[in-house]
Amino acid sequence: MATVLDEFRLDGRVAIVTGASRGLGAAMALGLAEAGADLVLVARGDAAQVRKGAAALGRRCQSIKADLAEKAAAAKIVSEAVSAMGRVDILVNNAGIIRRNSFLDLTEEEWRDVFDVNLDAAFRLSQQFARHLVAAKSPGKIINVASMLSFQGGIRVASYTAAKSALNGLTKIMANELAPLGINVNAIAPGYMATDVTAPLRADEAQNRAIIERIPAGRWGSPEDLKGAVVFLASRASDYVHGFTLAVDGGWLAR
Ligand code: NAP
Repeated sequence: MATVLDEFRLDGRVAIVTGASRGLGAAMALGLAEAGADLVLVARGDAAQVRKGAAALGRRCQSIKADLAEKAAAAKIVSEAVSAMGRVDILVNNAGIIRRNSFLDLTEEEWRDVFDVNLDAAFRLSQQFARHLVAAKSPGKIINVASMLSFQGGIRVASYTAAKSALNGLTKIMANELAPLGINVNAIAPGYMATDVTAPLRADEAQNRAIIERIPAGRWGSPEDLKGAVVFLASRASDYVHGFTLAVDGGWLAR
């Protein structure tokens, strides 16, 4: 007898995950593979660890080395993914960078670099992916990786906050236009997660303590904490969820 747990299975689906070489992207890719999905991993660097993990689970896995800051990357990624795997069903726009500087000193380059990867690349890749699904008459799932700074201002992170706030808006407008076409668009907003990006915060003892004290769960998140949310949003279990940003933040936003 089928149960609700079957709704979460991703057997036979293909997931493109950007920024899958390490950190949150690597853990989410492995979570999707554990639920049954085959993977297309996108990063500039090597995603060998994730490839190994996917192979151990018996999943097919293709790596595409691409710099998402380049305009041509999106079309290339979707067409290479389709020719390697035969289909695509799930897109996780996870790749992201941060530039920490005071608002007064932030350079044009620090503004532009962050927008190129965190917002423009998500727009382009989502558009190419959705166009492909519509032409193939296939349903699909797009999951953007937002941030606490999609909701809050932060400090010394102006380009990051602006891009992640815009990504939240983009999630809603895409959901409005793509829901009627059978494509769900949602986002995950991770809280403070222990990865390379946040290493400087954890290295500063006072800042580290202040962050932990403000998190109701009393600890940093781990990349594995995102597995459940990404599998849910990638699966049939979330078919009636559109345009929502799910915080996985140990309660940070509730404070
Ligand atoms: P991370 O450990 O630094 O990993 C970033 C990933 O993005 C890497 O796989 C990197 O791969 C890829 N990437 C960066 N620039 C790229 C480019 N130009 N082209 C292709 N790939 C690129 O970061 P993370 O902490 O896992 O963060 C992942 C996402 O979660 C980001 O969007 C981040 O803003 C968001 N987030 C993180 C936290 C947190 O606390 N860690 C909280 C909220 C939101 P290569 O360097 O190999 O290209």
